[in-house]
Amino acid sequence: MAGLYIHIPFCNSKCAYCGFYSLPSLKLKERFLEALKTEIVARKGYLHGETVNTVYFGGGTPSLLSIKEISELLHLINETFPVGIGPEITLEANPDTLSLEYLKGLRQLGVNRLSIGIQSFFDNDLKYLSRRHDSNHAKQCLDWAKQAGFSNISIDLIYGLPTSDAEQWNRNLDLFFELGLPHLSAYALTLEPNSILTKQIELGKVPPIKEEDALRDYEILCRRAAENGYLHYEISNFCQRGMHSKHNASYWFGTPYAGFGPSAHSFDGASRQWNESNVAHYCEAFSAASRHCEERSNPGQKLPSLDCFVVPPRNDEKRVQGPIVEIEQLTPEQLYDEYVMLRLRTHWGIDLKYMKREMGERFSTYCEKQAQPLIAQGRLSQTREFLYLTDAQMLFADGVAEELFWDN
Ligand code: SF4
Repeated sequence: MAGLYIHIPFCNSKCAYCGFYSLPSLKLKERFLEALKTEIVARKGYLHGETVNTVYFGGGTPSLLSIKEISELLHLINETFPVGIGPEITLEANPDTLSLEYLKGLRQLGVNRLSIGIQSFFDNDLKYLSRRHDSNHAKQCLDWAKQAGFSNISIDLIYGLPTSDAEQWNRNLDLFFELGLPHLSAYALTLEPNSILTKQIELGKVPPIKEEDALRDYEILCRRAAENGYLHYEISNFCQRGMHSKHNASYWFGTPYAGFGPSAHSFDGASRQWNESNVAHYCEAFSAASRHCEERSNPGQKLPSLDCFVVPPRNDEKRVQGPIVEIEQLTPEQLYDEYVMLRLRTHWGIDLKYMKREMGERFSTYCEKQAQPLIAQGRLSQTREFLYLTDAQMLFADGVAEELFWDN
């Protein structure tokens, strides 16, 4: 089993709160798609023939790609990797890019899961976040998505907004539950260091955010999700039974995945790779390396192998800088830390039996010993061989994980 992630680094404009690297222009789109296709083929052997069960278009705004462009990428993926029967194919979309015709086109291509950046059903919130859509269009898109044949729909909502109060947040959740959508990703608004919102707040142009608003909304969110039968399966994610994101769950279960595009990460079970994040550099580097590789080692071959892009680790260094792709060989201790960090964020929690079997007794014994004071303090819970966080404890997952890390 394996997953594929395709990063589309373009947006129509920059949202005030956004801390992600994305370009608010499509000028580089053609060049980017060429580089992306080169990378997909170059990574052909990366997953060692594992069957691909999930494909995820993330961004940025993947719905800025045309139906034809998405079709070409899916076609290439099917030619390059052994894709299983009925894979989960998710596309992140922003309402300002959607139409009924476009959504029907996606469905016909086999895209079967949508993750739509609604963020709020209230215009004052959307204005504060400088989103391009309004609440009516948000509702219209969800109607279109259903008409187009999508049933596996997730939306993003943001809480802890100074433009909202408990009543408005409850109304947002009412609308979500009334729509009967199977999945919700809900995030607390945070101030990213270089975001427009951070500067606006510093200059006193917009009201600041308050931690207590986020805590209040989080408590409402957890309670109402449980009342409505949704499983809180990851800190920010809620779903109806069996409707969790299979792609994202594969990250938490250590399933290998290949990531394509600027800043995308890949993991093969033993090492992690991550790509150059600057779009122009990514395009140039892949084109140049492709030319160089073709001349140097693969004359006559149309596209180079991944080896041309990655600098392999040397014996004396665990991590090296490559021109396009960085690689880090993970030690057993790093794999342990990663397992602890990822699994604590989920309702599945840390499985001590699995840890003992797969990583060795020294890790499971260490983890259990480190857990005892945290359990006594009420910061961590244990049922049989599982260590996990309750709704209330989940907000502090990072601090708990740090205390379980190796060599804490
Ligand atoms: S659409 Fe998403 S990625 Fe693009 S600027 Fe807005 S928040 Fe950032």
